[in-house]
Amino acid sequence: MEFETKCLHAGYTPGNGDPRVLPIVQSTTYTYDSTESIGKLFDLEESGFFYTRLANPTTSAVEEKLAALEGGVGALCTASGQSATFYALLNILESGDHFISSSYIYGGTYNLFAHTFKKMGIDVTFVDQFAPLEELKKAIRPNTKAVFGETIANPAMHVLDFAKFAQLAHEHKIPFFVDNTFATPYFCQPFQHGADIVIHSTTKYLDGHAVATGGVIIDGGRFDWANGKFPQLAEPDETYHGIVYTETFGKAAYITKARVQLMRDLGATPAPQNSFYLNLGLETLPLRMDRHYENALKVAEFIQNQPSVAQITYPGLPEDPNFALKERYLPNGLCGVITFEIAAGRAAAAKWLDALDLVSLEVHVADIRTCALHPATSTHRQMSDEELLAAGISPGTIRLSCGIENSADILSDLAQAFQKLEG
Ligand SMILES: *Cc1c(COP(=O)(O)O)cnc(C)c1O
Repeated sequence: MEFETKCLHAGYTPGNGDPRVLPIVQSTTYTYDSTESIGKLFDLEESGFFYTRLANPTTSAVEEKLAALEGGVGALCTASGQSATFYALLNILESGDHFISSSYIYGGTYNLFAHTFKKMGIDVTFVDQFAPLEELKKAIRPNTKAVFGETIANPAMHVLDFAKFAQLAHEHKIPFFVDNTFATPYFCQPFQHGADIVIHSTTKYLDGHAVATGGVIIDGGRFDWANGKFPQLAEPDETYHGIVYTETFGKAAYITKARVQLMRDLGATPAPQNSFYLNLGLETLPLRMDRHYENALKVAEFIQNQPSVAQITYPGLPEDPNFALKERYLPNGLCGVITFEIAAGRAAAAKWLDALDLVSLEVHVADIRTCALHPATSTHRQMSDEELLAAGISPGTIRLSCGIENSADILSDLAQAFQKLEG
């Protein structure tokens, strides 16, 4: 099946007389005929549903679809993007371990890595993803167990050099994790470029309608977890009568462990109803992403030519420093998010945003309605101009997320706001 067809048909094949649309199985429990069949489920000798924290038919169908879209061997859906990132790394890291992350990552991920993991005894080194490989290698330690980056960084909009990061990881026999939220598998499939594990906040484009928080971890199935560095996967798990994941589950060792151990113990499971919404969103992902890209390119070209704009970052513009990486890894398109700077600073940026009519002010990005955010007066409002600049944000920075409205309406709203600013 081609990508568009998988968006509609992967993961759920109704039988004779079954509902055409993926049903919501709103049940926490499942019933069995004998204690023996239940025992086999608990010993992981048979697969089946026994409790919705671990697996649910609606969620499983979506997981199968997401694995098919990314080209992975299995997926685990979680209650949010944050819990997906948390579980993905915790599945192989423990106290005393270290990992490397690009410094251009989502703010919530930064907090998780720099503070919460640190309290758990897991140490991170943030690196400049544009540094040469030889420089990046200096961050590797004997206890380094993972390398992490975002395909398109939120909010910096930098594009990851997959080849360089994959080489950094694989030369040291450690896995390469990619947060593919902003690109979506429609525009970029990180497994084709050396990634081992892919993560998404499905809250963004995959749901696409801003109705359900969610996350997913997808296993590429190619990393050799039995290379001596990952005892969590290659040594017996006493909680399952000494099962060894790499031996029993082969290519799906990593994702099986994430489910049967971490989801069992930590429990950030998605609601079946939210899995239904996610599936509904995925059905139209290709159509929406093409339109997000088309609109964002028009909007970026328009913003670029405004006299009150000091700077714009959108890797789809040939002048953008990320354009070459975009052409290499995302040849067919990008997300709808654009970052730009109103030259006159904080007050002028606020004035421009307050003048918007169709475009709404939201602490959100990446859904079908165009929205905008001003970090200096919202997410970062406690910071002085100097502190903002140190964090890589300028007082006039605006993050604009282009939706799928008719571009003429978006452009005319932006134009009237620029007129108010200049007039
Ligand atoms: C939003 C986001 C997350 C966190 O996801 P939630 O669903 O909000 O928990 C992680 N990574 C990226 C790139 C994001 O944009």
